[in-house]
Order: sequence, then structure tokens, then C-alpha cells
Amino acid sequence: MSVVEAEQPHLRVSAANGHSNKEALNERIPPAESASVEDKFFWTYTEEPHRSRRMAIIKAHPEVTKLCGPEPLTKWVVLGVVSTQLTCAYLLRNTSILDWRFIATAYFIGATSNQNLFLAIHEISHNLAFRSGFANRLLAVFANLPIGVPYSAAFRPYHLTHHKSLGVAGLDTDLPTALEAFFLDSVLGKTFFCTFQILFYALRPHLSFDYLLTRATGSLQPLYYLIMSSFLAGSLHPCAGHFIAEHYFFSKVKGGGTESLAELKTKPAAPKSETPRALDNLAPPETYSYYGPLNILTYNVGLHNEHHDFPAIPWTKLHKLHQIAAEFYEPLPCHRSWVWVIWTFIWDQNVGPWCRVKRAQGGRVVGGGSGKSKTPAGRSGETISAPPTTGEEEGDGWKESELQC
Ligand SMILES: [Zn+2]
Ligand SMILES: [Zn+2]
Repeated sequence: MSVVEAEQPHLRVSAANGHSNKEALNERIPPAESASVEDKFFWTYTEEPHRSRRMAIIKAHPEVTKLCGPEPLTKWVVLGVVSTQLTCAYLLRNTSILDWRFIATAYFIGATSNQNLFLAIHEISHNLAFRSGFANRLLAVFANLPIGVPYSAAFRPYHLTHHKSLGVAGLDTDLPTALEAFFLDSVLGKTFFCTFQILFYALRPHLSFDYLLTRATGSLQPLYYLIMSSFLAGSLHPCAGHFIAEHYFFSKVKGGGTESLAELKTKPAAPKSETPRALDNLAPPETYSYYGPLNILTYNVGLHNEHHDFPAIPWTKLHKLHQIAAEFYEPLPCHRSWVWVIWTFIWDQNVGPWCRVKRAQGGRVVGGGSGKSKTPAGRSGETISAPPTTGEEEGDGWKESELQC
């Protein structure tokens, strides 16, 4: 296993590729995926919006680059939350999983803690806890322990690809496929196959922790507690709203709910139908931020436009970025409640799994490490198969540090 130390984050904004934008086509374009169901995604040929906004913000406010780099507080938060979860698991060792105290602890403390750990792993996947890539990988494995099943090793390459290839069909695994959107519970065999391999790679060390936990407490309940915490963390839980809030577009929802901060300041709660907005004529937004109180529990993942613009800025400094570049962020639509997001996603027929912007071209896989020479597009045949421990992807035409600044 070769581990390359991550370089100190540095400014890298020059990586303009060959596949430049065609004319901005903010209209529906025939889908590129061959699906047996009618495709209702919003297809675009424009470049993802975050890279160009990053460059504009750096030009207007060069001082934002000082916000980049590791945050020393992260490791202590991780230590505190892992300890909390293992303490709860231990205390519940003799409680039945059907006992209301077991379920209530798993919902209120467990799910919140494990969602917090998912997002710690997200933060760490951007090398934002330590300078050393290896130290970040180790902390991710540690943060993964109370999640009950291995997750951190598989998450990183998929997530970095989500940044690098936002919305690119076949690369961004944050996107539902047309079939998934149609059937909701179907999974592409290929994606499953890749996921399966990496899970096996990470499975063994995690299972031995689970075994030790079970032996040390003389009970299976602690393991059940941790797994139930993880399930509830990604279920009908307020903090789970961020999964939908980040990239599903809510622009077709009647009656508003996602007005920008700027709009809220001028005319609060104006019904959307009566006041057509400038944004209504444009392509739907690809990313929404949320600025509410649940950010305290979730490493500020709500500041998602800010995070995609500057993935190398740690969670503690995203509000500062927002402040410095307020004129870029205040006009963007944003969510005011993650609970509202889940509620509206389920009940409002104007929003659903089809409400995603997809691009058929461009994008590159992160973490492939195939060593292939400069190939601008990675969607054909390049799978994510290498362990995610290589620090920089020198071989395949771009570097991880492009996601940093
Ligand atoms: Zn995202
Ligand atoms: Zn990220």
C-alpha cells in the first residue's frame, strides 16, 4: 500500500481542459443514457458551476484562499462523538432492541451522532483533518467504527468524483440513474459490483472491531445499537434532509420555500406564483445551501454551494467564506429547513427523483489511479477499483489537489 503524503493545499485554478462549454444550452436536451423508461432528468452541456464561481470569487476576494487547509478541531470532535456512541452502545448491552429506550437513544443520540460521523468522514475525505494523507485515512477508519459497517474506504473515491464530475451521468454516484428514478429501489449492476469489491477490501478490519465489541460486552445489543443508529441517520431524520437538499432542484415547487437570502431580505415570504423571479427562466440550480441550526451537528454540510466552490476550506471556515463572498452567495436559492425538504420531496409532485441536472459529457473519475495518460473524459471504461490511499493521481491527467485551493 503506497501512501503519498498530501501536499500542503495550494492554489490551482488553471486546469482548463479541452472539453470547453458549447454554447450554454439551458434547455432540455435528448438524454444520453439509454434507459427503457421515459427520461425526465434535466440534461445540460454546460460545465458544472462551481469551478467558474471559485475562480470569480478568488479574483474578487483573493484572501479566501487563506481559509484553505486542515482544521485541528476536527479530530477532537471525532474523538468525542465516537466515545459518545461507544458509551451508549455499552450502556445498552442488556436492553432489548424493541425497548423504547433503545430505539429512542438510537434515534435521538445514535442517528444524530452517526450522521455527524458520516460528515466527519466527508470532511476527512478532503484531507481536512491532518496535513498527512495517511493520518486522514486513519482518522476516517476510526470515525467509521461506530457506523457499524465499513464505509469510509469506499466513500472517498466516489465522493471526490462527485466533486470533480458533478452531475455527469455514469460518474457522479450521487445521481440516481433513470432506472433507479423509475423503480426507486433498483441498483445498476456495475455500480453494485464496484461497491462490493471495495466493501470487501474494508470489511475485515471492521468486522474484527465488531467482534471485539461483542466479546467485550458479552452481548450483541451494542452492535445492533450502532447499526440501528446508522440506519436511522439516513432515514426520516431531520439531519438526513441534507442528502436531498444538496442537489435535487426544487425550482418547480409552487409557493416558494427556497428563496435566496437576498430575496428574503427584501420581500419575505412572497408567494412564488405571484412574483416571477429572474431565476425561473434559467436552468434549475444544481446545488442548494442551507444555513439553519442543524449545521452545528453536521460539519456545516448545509453550506454546500460554498463547499463545492472550495472543497479545501474546512467546515469551521465556510461561514467566513460566505461572509467574504456574500455577493456571490446571497442571490442563490437556498433551503431553510431540512425537515421541509424531506416533507416536500415526498408530498409535492413537482419535486422527486427526476429533479436532477445531468450532463452526458465530460468529467473524470477520482481515485481510479489507472495510470492512463491524459484522457480528458473518464466515463468510458474507467472504473473505480484502486484502493483510495494514493494521495495524488498523477497518471490520469489531473490531480486531487485540483479539488483543493
Ligand atoms: Zn455535493
Ligand atoms: Zn465534499
